[in-house]
Amino acid sequence: MTADLDIFRAEARAWLEANCPSEMRMPMTAEFGAPWGGRKPTFDSDAQRIWFERMVERRWTAPTWPVEYGGAGLSVEEAHVLGDELRRIKARPPLIGTGLWMLGPALLRYGTEAQKRVHLPAIARGEIRWCQGYSEPGAGSDLASVRTRAEDRGDHFLVNGSKIWTSYANLSDWMCCLVRTDPNVRKQLGIGFLLIDMASPGVSTKPIVLIDGTADFCETFFDDVVVPKENLVGASGEGWSIAKYLMSHEREMIGGSEFEGELPEAGSLGRMLAAGHGQGDALLRADIVRYDVDFLAFQLTVQRFKDERAHGMPETPASASILKLAGANLEIRRKELTMSIGGTALLSWETGPAHAAVPPTKSWLRARASAIAGGTNEIQLNIIAKHALGL
Ligand SMILES: Cc1cc2nc3c(=O)[nH]c(=O)nc-3n(C[C@H](O)[C@H](O)[C@H](O)COP(=O)(O)OP(=O)(O)OC[C@H]3O[C@@H](n4cnc5c(N)ncnc54)[C@H](O)[C@@H]3O)c2cc1C
Repeated sequence: MTADLDIFRAEARAWLEANCPSEMRMPMTAEFGAPWGGRKPTFDSDAQRIWFERMVERRWTAPTWPVEYGGAGLSVEEAHVLGDELRRIKARPPLIGTGLWMLGPALLRYGTEAQKRVHLPAIARGEIRWCQGYSEPGAGSDLASVRTRAEDRGDHFLVNGSKIWTSYANLSDWMCCLVRTDPNVRKQLGIGFLLIDMASPGVSTKPIVLIDGTADFCETFFDDVVVPKENLVGASGEGWSIAKYLMSHEREMIGGSEFEGELPEAGSLGRMLAAGHGQGDALLRADIVRYDVDFLAFQLTVQRFKDERAHGMPETPASASILKLAGANLEIRRKELTMSIGGTALLSWETGPAHAAVPPTKSWLRARASAIAGGTNEIQLNIIAKHALGL
């Protein structure tokens, strides 16, 4: 087994050396600066497009998904090796998005054979861009209160209502959407998980312009939208279980990753300080050391969760919440420390020093969103209190 993995590592290393363009082996220069795919994909450079196309062809955009659903069919161990090799050359992600990170795993578990065969290969090949229609004006933390209705009209559902904070709804091709299928039962039991083509008549989006002028979020409206029955994932009251399963992947993704493609490493803040970017008083140095120790402990915890999963140990309901909470808090601390080290010299909106992939001011402010997206820190604490501590 180890020998097989060694062979796989050597092959993966050689393939990546030959196929990953050098421009794709450095930190991204913008937040989420990797291709999202979609019906009208956009690329920042030829190198980004080539990297995307080669990885799609190799099926390494979804390494562990079964071959019949567009993946490479790698074992968990092989996927770890591939991840190591990608990190070794500091490769940027070839494709990112809700489909790969969240919906794909949910469809693998809950989708019908037809849903898997239609949607998963299109996600793995970056042909369809998905957004997540969960939150509503009256249903954020209290998500089970969603009110967007899906009325059963025999051969289709008729959907009416609205969503809010839908990231990139205006750029997405399809939405995975939580809908109220039955208003007369306990709220968690009357929810469906529906796949909606955003090109359907009656779907409209309205971007929400943020303080920095960008509009990553939208309001999404549904006015008499006809959705075929076969687009319901699971049974009509099973949406809540599917939603929670999808969110566990979202939370692990938010907790365990750094979107800018800059993999932080213990000691990097200390090096920044030593390079003369700050005063280096004793309190700041102590905070940096405390951060590094917590960060190393976090990395070990992530690894432990991965190992447990690879060896078939059941996930606890709280594990994704623990990763999300700890990862989000560390990200916020790291970016606060970066600003403390750099001081006013870093307070630029457009550019940063050469070592910073994204202007640190933007990165610092954006980090606050990690404590909200995918369920707030308080909600993660509630889940941990209930499911991990039994309170
Ligand atoms: C960057 C980003 C991207 C997002 N993308 C999407 C997306 O693509 N699709 C989507 O559907 N949504 C998305 N969201 C929305 C996100 O899921 C919600 O903002 C989040 O779940 C909180 O809901 P809310 O904003 O309604 O706040 P509320 O639920 O109104 O919460 C307000 C405050 O009350 C606290 N609170 C609420 N209930 C409790 C409780 N029981 N115990 C303790 N404290 C509580 C919260 O922690 C928070 O501090 C995104 C959010 C962000 C920041």
